Amino acid sequence: LVVRLICNQTVGGSSPSVGSTNPMHKNAQTVEAFGRFMSAARIDGKACAADLEKRLKQRIANCSVQPHLAVIIVGDDPASHVYVNNKIRSCERLGIRSTHVELPEDTDESVVADYIQSMNQQNDLHGILIQSPLPKHMNEEALTELIDPRKDVDGFHPVNLGRLVQGRSDGMVPCTPAGVMEMLRWAEVDLTGKKAVVLGRSFNVGMPQALLLAARGVDATVTVVHSRTRDAKSECLQADVIVAAVGRPEMIQPDWVKKGAIVVDVGINRVDDSSRERGWRLAGDVHPDVALHASLLSPVPGGVGPMTVAMLMANTVTATERLCS
Ligand code: NAP
Repeated sequence: LVVRLICNQTVGGSSPSVGSTNPMHKNAQTVEAFGRFMSAARIDGKACAADLEKRLKQRIANCSVQPHLAVIIVGDDPASHVYVNNKIRSCERLGIRSTHVELPEDTDESVVADYIQSMNQQNDLHGILIQSPLPKHMNEEALTELIDPRKDVDGFHPVNLGRLVQGRSDGMVPCTPAGVMEMLRWAEVDLTGKKAVVLGRSFNVGMPQALLLAARGVDATVTVVHSRTRDAKSECLQADVIVAAVGRPEMIQPDWVKKGAIVVDVGINRVDDSSRERGWRLAGDVHPDVALHASLLSPVPGGVGPMTVAMLMANTVTATERLCS
């Protein structure tokens, strides 16, 4: 795979058909892949995250106290440990203090509950995150509900999800869908009146994503596609904007996407790849050739992933500002 990035330049593409989705706009990059030019510009999640981090550093400098995030991880799922290490590295980069609680797989749920209760009381700690998935014997929902909603930097507490439904801005918004919205803003996509299709209806990605896209001031018209949807392809073909969060490698095929659509790939899937030394590669929910039809496409890796971590940092800073004001 040869990937060449050419800033702010479009080659051999069709004209985009929706809103201000012109790939010539700032922060979009043209992608050349598989040895031929593609029409889609890339929404570079890493660059967007770096931009957000710059603004966060300024906010942290203005905080009266050092923001402090606690991450609780139970068990030894290797992917979860990679995610937690990424979060800790981001904290270090930004000057956010981090506390990392690592517990063995057979820990009793009450131990995690005790940690959460004690962290809720700790005045110099502003964000609490429980790394998912927890071992099967634990009730993730019940533990999430124990977190003080003001410190719920994942945004999964019912109080925060409820505030999102109410259109209030005083809650915590789940990091992945918030990161997608930030990327679309950064790429100067005007969503007003656009038809958006969200694939997936999980409480952590799909549903909050749909709410954010349909929120007043954003004003997209949203369809949610799930495993019982009769014809997902025809729903996608009508969309100006597609956000794919299904966890099915490359399910969104090029002939599912209308010319000029904007496609955000949330999926992170590990697929076998004998050409790699490690025997696998990461694939998104969107087939790479969708770039032939789309006007803007976020890649996997390097798209939504870095934005999710950056939004976690943003939620931690927001929690600190609110708790200390
Ligand atoms: P999830 O809880 O498993 O939800 C998947 C959703 O996709 C469900 O609503 C399911 O529908 C729907 N779905 C599954 N198969 C489908 C099909 N064939 N057609 C239509 N809909 C289908 O997963 P999630 O937590 O939302 O995550 C989704 C993907 O995003 C995963 O690949 C995950 O790794 C990735 N992710 C990435 C980030 C990041 O930072 N980039 C963060 C979170 C998640 P039903 O409800 O009907 O079962």
